[in-house]
Amino acid sequence: MRKEMNRRDFLNATAVTGALFLAGDILQKGGLAQGLVKVPKAEASEVSRRTIRTITLEEHFATPAFLKGPGAQIKGRAQATGVLDQLCDLGERRIADMDEAGIDVQVLSLTTPGVDQLDATEAEKLAHDTNDILADAVRRHPTRFAGFATLPTASPEAAAHELDRMVREHGFKGAVINGHNRGRYLDDKFFWPILERAEALQVPLYLHPTKPPRPVIEASYRGNYTAEVTNLLTASGWGWHIETAIHTLRLILSGAFDRYPRLQLIIGHLGEGLPFMLPRLDRILTMALTKLQRPISAYLRENVYYTISGFNFTPAFLDLFSEVGAHRIIFSADYPYGSMSEARQFLEQLPVSPADKERIAHGNAELLLRL
Ligand code: MN
Repeated sequence: MRKEMNRRDFLNATAVTGALFLAGDILQKGGLAQGLVKVPKAEASEVSRRTIRTITLEEHFATPAFLKGPGAQIKGRAQATGVLDQLCDLGERRIADMDEAGIDVQVLSLTTPGVDQLDATEAEKLAHDTNDILADAVRRHPTRFAGFATLPTASPEAAAHELDRMVREHGFKGAVINGHNRGRYLDDKFFWPILERAEALQVPLYLHPTKPPRPVIEASYRGNYTAEVTNLLTASGWGWHIETAIHTLRLILSGAFDRYPRLQLIIGHLGEGLPFMLPRLDRILTMALTKLQRPISAYLRENVYYTISGFNFTPAFLDLFSEVGAHRIIFSADYPYGSMSEARQFLEQLPVSPADKERIAHGNAELLLRL
């Protein structure tokens, strides 16, 4: 009952305002098809560049050791698309790009596929070295960079220890986990020492996309089209996002958030499709069926934060906004794969109240990460 009231309060306070902003725009611009909220003014962006603090959470880097190891599989494409140099820079060039785009803080993480597909020994060493490199960069630029740890998920006790080390000794803000570990997902109690430590340290875990396990690709993604199409369909074209959505649902359905109720998860890309499915999830996966303490939507509203991370799509944003509210949405660019300038422009024209824009741009991140 109380939760329902909260939701209604929120709808009154924020979504309606958003809908009104939007309605006005549709009327003025003549509808969705014509690009309903294109904000033309460079002047507005100049003003708010000086007034709105911006913190981004899905921002990536790479190290030479990573690119020789698990990063070898992304190196060619990163080179071809011109983002390799940006990935490898943890200094002046990155900061110049941030200044140019109007981004104040990047919370950095090792890029996909992280170390999450490695065996325990390899993962432990590479995670440790990667975290030390990032800690150095954060020490050099403490007002511009913050860190999310890389964890050797294949070795959960070591991962919990590494999270502890990075948070307590180096001020990291949480960790990024790149999806399943060789087909094992976080609902498996094998991994729960990581969840337990994150909750105890009061830091969030960012669940970043990865490709589905090989048998899933063979069963569901390979089809009557080229290998290149298959490859992107399994990754950023579809599979990454659906994979992260199902991973989030598995975690909820396992009771992990009943066991660790203060644990906070972050997912990117405007919720990886989950907001669209949220009412359906509540209707079909009822509490009578799941035996969970709360409806699925309650976990999605109380234990998950959502970043934009380059999904500069207004209708999808409004769906997320209507389902979970502005207090759960955090700005992000997915740099260098996504453009910081485009993300900044998208933030500028969001059809939400100024107070909600502040929450999304920096307020929610400041509260969640104590920045
Ligand atoms: Mn990303």
